[in-house]
Parts: sequence; structure tokens; C-alpha cells
Amino acid sequence: MRSPAYTFLRDTDWVYRIHELDRIAVRCALCPRRCGVNRFAGERGFCGAPGGLVISSIFPHHGEEPPLSGTGGSGTVFFTHCTLKCVFCQNYQISHEQEGRPFSSEELAQKLLGLQAKGCHNINLVTATHFLPWVLRALRMAAESGLAIPIVYNCGGYELEETIDLLRDVVDIWLPDMKYGENEPARLYSKAPDYVEVNRAAVRRMFRQAGPLRCDDAGIAHRGLCIRHLVLPNDQSASRDVLAFLKRTFDPQDIFISLMAQYRPLYGADRHALIGTRVDPSEYELIKQEFIAAGFEGFYQEPERLDTAFVIDFKTRKEDPLTGS
Ligand code: SF4
Repeated sequence: MRSPAYTFLRDTDWVYRIHELDRIAVRCALCPRRCGVNRFAGERGFCGAPGGLVISSIFPHHGEEPPLSGTGGSGTVFFTHCTLKCVFCQNYQISHEQEGRPFSSEELAQKLLGLQAKGCHNINLVTATHFLPWVLRALRMAAESGLAIPIVYNCGGYELEETIDLLRDVVDIWLPDMKYGENEPARLYSKAPDYVEVNRAAVRRMFRQAGPLRCDDAGIAHRGLCIRHLVLPNDQSASRDVLAFLKRTFDPQDIFISLMAQYRPLYGADRHALIGTRVDPSEYELIKQEFIAAGFEGFYQEPERLDTAFVIDFKTRKEDPLTGS
């Protein structure tokens, strides 16, 4: 497999990007909330994140899509706090309840190298946007010390194009959600009434940067875009609008889709009648067949095979087991 693009970045490139992210975080506009708070002064915006890293868990994840988890696992870093904080978040312990502890960038860099030494196929940054100035510092240090596996940017898809541009040739694999095809449920469940426009612009930008998902002979991804769509009950994800956008924007052969049936009414979901239940398997199946009929290949979950394996208890999981369990 060829080396990730970030291993060729000149030091001046790293310095420029970190400088730009620092500048943005002083009146924070790292994400579309544009809170304007000074993160370096410890001020907190919508996400609740302080200045400096807070991380919940770091471990080889064997439950991601097969091109990411492979046999060695995806080296996953779960950052605390979130810019979306959906009411149904399955990771609510870290997004809403702020489970985690402070990390220095140096410490994170060492953990990333540890994941690589364990045989992970990639570094999987889960909701990192609100910590990007400190994440980039860690990546630069890790790259200088020999990190050379692809970087996966695993996010809710609510991203600014300017921020995505600063991650060109740092991120190898974009893994955004397309959570909603309509703005009303995005407003109701994620307080993001502009989600659809922001998300579609972000996905276009990510594709322009990285192109279709490409895998090696063993089926392990090394570059490109993979779009996740979690089907919500009672059509609250407006899945057909997401599908219509994808059909008119991309060649289906260029898009690897991960269509998920694993929704559970966690955290505050039971306060909303339409999402206070599991997805009916027949509702998921109909949407799945429409994606397949449109020519989108990828990873399709089978509802009957799902159990609680996709919900991680971040309070009982050891902070950094690196065991692969
Ligand atoms: S990263 Fe946090 S503080 Fe910064 S704009 Fe987004 S929500 Fe606001």
C-alpha cells in the first residue's frame, strides 16, 4: 500500500495548518456553529469543549465497516464532547455527559503510534472537529515519529468547507454521516436547522479531495470517501431525500455507502414520539432496496443480526486497553 499523503507533508505545511486552526479557534469557528468563543482562554461554546484535548477511549475497534476494521482493527480515538449532540446519540456518555479525561497532544501522539504498533489498519478520529488545533499537533508529532497508516475522519457530517480544506492531505479517508435529508428533524433532534445544506456541501468537498473509496488487495481502505446513513424510525432521517441527492450528485459507482439499521432510542430519544422506538426491519429493508436499485454498493447492515454490540459503554471500558477486545 502506498504511504498516506500526510507522510509527505512538509513541516511548513503542518505549521501553516496548525497556525490557521489556532487562529480560527481564538474566535471559534471550527464548526458551523461559529460560537466565536476563545478556546485558548478556556471559553466553551455549543460543543462544551475546553481548550486542549479531552478523550474518552482509544482502542482497536473491530466493529467498523469491513474495509476499516479488517483483521487488525481500526485504531479508534473517541473524543469527548460533540458539535451536534443528537438527542438519540448512541455515544451520549461522551457527547452529552462529557465522559473522558484531558490529554496532551504529546500523549495522544504516543497513543497513535501504539495503535499502529498493535497492527491497526488506520487511525480513526471520531468527532475530532472541536479539538482540531490539538489533534493536528498530535498528528504532526506522530508523523515525525513514524506514523504511516491512513487517517480516517469519522464525523457527523456537519462540517465547514474551510475546515475540510485545512485537512487536505492530512485526512486519507473521509467517513461522514449524512444524518438527515430534511432540516426539520435536524433542527428537532440535533439543533442544526441548516444541517442539510452544510452536510451536502461538506460531502461534495470531501469527495473532491479524496475521491471514491479505494482498497488494497486485502480489501482494506486506504483513501477516499465512505458515507454513513443511519436509518431513523418513521422516516425521520428522510432517507429518500438523502438518496435523491446522492443520485443526482454522484456516479453511484463512486460512492461507498454504509447504510445502518442499528438505531436504538437512547439518551433523550424517548421524549420524541417518532424516534422513541427501534427501526422496523421492513422500513429499513425498503430503503436498502432503493439504495441497491440505484446502484450504490457498500455495507448494508442486516437488522436481524444486530444486538447491543454497537453500543459501547464508555464508563466501564478501560481508558486505553489496546487489547483489541
Ligand atoms: S467547535 Fe465548539 S465552540 Fe467551536 S464553533 Fe463549534 S460548537 Fe462552537
